[in-house]
Parts: sequence; C-alpha cells; structure tokens
Amino acid sequence: MEYITREEEGCLFCEKRDYVVHSGRHAYVMLNAFPYNHGHLMVAPYRHVHDLEELNDDESGEIIDLVKLSQDVLKRLLKPDGFNIGINIGKVAGAGEEHLHIHVVPRWEGDTNFMPILAEVRVIPEHLESTYEKLTEAFRDKL
Ligand SMILES: [Zn+2]
Repeated sequence: MEYITREEEGCLFCEKRDYVVHSGRHAYVMLNAFPYNHGHLMVAPYRHVHDLEELNDDESGEIIDLVKLSQDVLKRLLKPDGFNIGINIGKVAGAGEEHLHIHVVPRWEGDTNFMPILAEVRVIPEHLESTYEKLTEAFRDKL
C-alpha cells in the first residue's frame, strides 16, 4: 500500500475516494485505508467544507443518518463492544485532512490500551480489501 501524500493527490475526500462503502445524496461513507482499528469508517460530505458550521441542513441531517447507519452495519458485521465517534478539526487537533469528516471507530474489549481518536496511532489494517467488500455488501443489504 502506498502512502498518500496530500500534495500529490489533492484532497483525499474530494479526489481520492478509495474504499467508499456507501454513497448517499450529500455525503458518503468510506473505509479508512489507514485505520485506527479494524472497520474504521469515515463519514464525509461531498462538498469540501472545513467545519460543521459550513454544512447546510441537508448535509448535516444525512451525515448523522450515515453515522447511525455505519454503527448499525458495524454492529452486525463486526460485533464491537463500543465505538469512538468523533471529529478532529484543524491540524492542532490532529486532523490529517481539512475536509470535514466524522470518524466511526469500532472498539473491542482489550483491542489495545486506550487508543484515542486524536492520536496518530494506527493499527495495521488486516485484510483491508476483504473488510471493504464485506462492508460494501452490508451497506447494500441495509437499503
Ligand atoms: Zn475535499
């Protein structure tokens, strides 16, 4: 797997869009290629906005719906014990991309010591492709 340099590739959420598992009208769900944990999803608007206050009502509503849908799909597929759900805004807060996105990170008892969403700690993805396929299918089944 290649490391994505932002300079070369532009915005990850506008241009790259690898591992999209579900496409909505105003927002979509993508599997993180550099996950904090197995099944780490990200929900982002199609529009390149930097902050929550820039979202319109349609985007805000759909983003929350997609976070809920993501949780539901992950619960059924991966049976986590809990979740970290959060947003990093600004470099100082640990945001790797300025394009707004919400992390949905499944957690299991004893998966690591506390692994905060803020940390740039990454667990090596196990079978990213197969996780991607299973999740895409699971989202499709929900519709
Ligand atoms: Zn963008």
